[in-house]
Amino acid sequence: TNFWSTVPQGPPDPILGVTDAFKKDKAPNKVNLGVGAYRDENGKPYVLESVLKAEDILHQKKLDKEYLPITGEAEFVKLASELAYGKNSKPIQEGRLAVAQSVSGTGALRIASGFLSAHYNGPKTVYLPDPTWGNHVPIFENVGIKVQRYRYFDKKTVGLDFIGMKEDIKLIAFALQILLHACAQNPTGIDPTQEQWKELSELLQAKKHLALFDMAYQGFASGDIIRDAYAPRYFVEQGHQIILCQSFAKNLGLYAERAGTFSMVVSSAEEKERVLSQVKRIIRPLYSSPPIHGAQLVATILGSPELYEQWLGEVKKMADRIIDMREKLYNLLVELKTPGEWGHIKSQIGMFSFTGISAEQVQALADHAHVYMTKDGRISMAGLNEHNIQYFAESLSKAVK
Ligand code: PMP
Repeated sequence: TNFWSTVPQGPPDPILGVTDAFKKDKAPNKVNLGVGAYRDENGKPYVLESVLKAEDILHQKKLDKEYLPITGEAEFVKLASELAYGKNSKPIQEGRLAVAQSVSGTGALRIASGFLSAHYNGPKTVYLPDPTWGNHVPIFENVGIKVQRYRYFDKKTVGLDFIGMKEDIKLIAFALQILLHACAQNPTGIDPTQEQWKELSELLQAKKHLALFDMAYQGFASGDIIRDAYAPRYFVEQGHQIILCQSFAKNLGLYAERAGTFSMVVSSAEEKERVLSQVKRIIRPLYSSPPIHGAQLVATILGSPELYEQWLGEVKKMADRIIDMREKLYNLLVELKTPGEWGHIKSQIGMFSFTGISAEQVQALADHAHVYMTKDGRISMAGLNEHNIQYFAESLSKAVK
């Protein structure tokens, strides 16, 4: 018996599909600006030196491969939360931060959606920025949470539509779930300023909304892990009971190791125990317990003053190379007398830049110049380097002329 003859072909993933198209292209000068992974100055994937050292240390320890607890490796969870919230964070000191290791940032978001779907007392609706990382939508819809949008991107200025964002957050009912990108918003590369975050904190508090922070790029935006954690830390200081989804994919280059955390600020140590007992009930049927190796790598680095310092330098180096590419791309576009205003390339932050070009222009770049990016005109700045930036700038310039 064939059980599966009626299974329809699904659509390709909008982001990973770009890499498939790139791989099929045989042109030697092809450029992949689709995928959100760091590339070094020669376009190669990069394993951090601090990670290689941590690998050596772990290898020498000859640790076993026993199962982790459902909520993960305790030392990792502790150090990772301190990195996100700061060692002196009140919820940590008062024992009222509920944390579980997660299967990277995606897994953290999935725990969040599962927990909210089961236990949130307000309306089961999450508000996402428009636009946002594509995967946010099914992560919430798959557990029956309704997805709505708030305005975020202003096409005209290729900047933040802060007025629109505030209007939408004010208009929407009370006690909703508002997803915020902690820094280096994906896909736009546009973040609120610290002053704007303060306003947003007040606004969310006034409307009793729940702030759900997705922090996939701590350190990657500015090169400074403290500065990049400004928004969630400020919200916590102001008394928000935030939820935070933390990923080590980008800032430690641990993509496939799937290391991350899910955390919730709650009101007391007693409440933390109750909440965690329910978090365990979300995780157990999903995958029982998380993978160990990535968590051990992170704990080794964050737990060693020497490796920690080295890692901070490496994050800064990655962020600085991207910032340098932004500057160069902007200068080239201006030199080439490219029509339009390109200042946003420099002011945007993090892995991505939202170029503002149309879907037709994106297609033309793939067809005629072998340059690949997502349909929305988002480019991964990390895909640019000294060898291909001139070619990319010329191709982009041609495409918009
Ligand atoms: N959130 C955002 C905004 C992202 O860009 C990403 C990675 N592309 C993630 C979460 C999750 O990544 P991962 O599961 O690899 O940690």
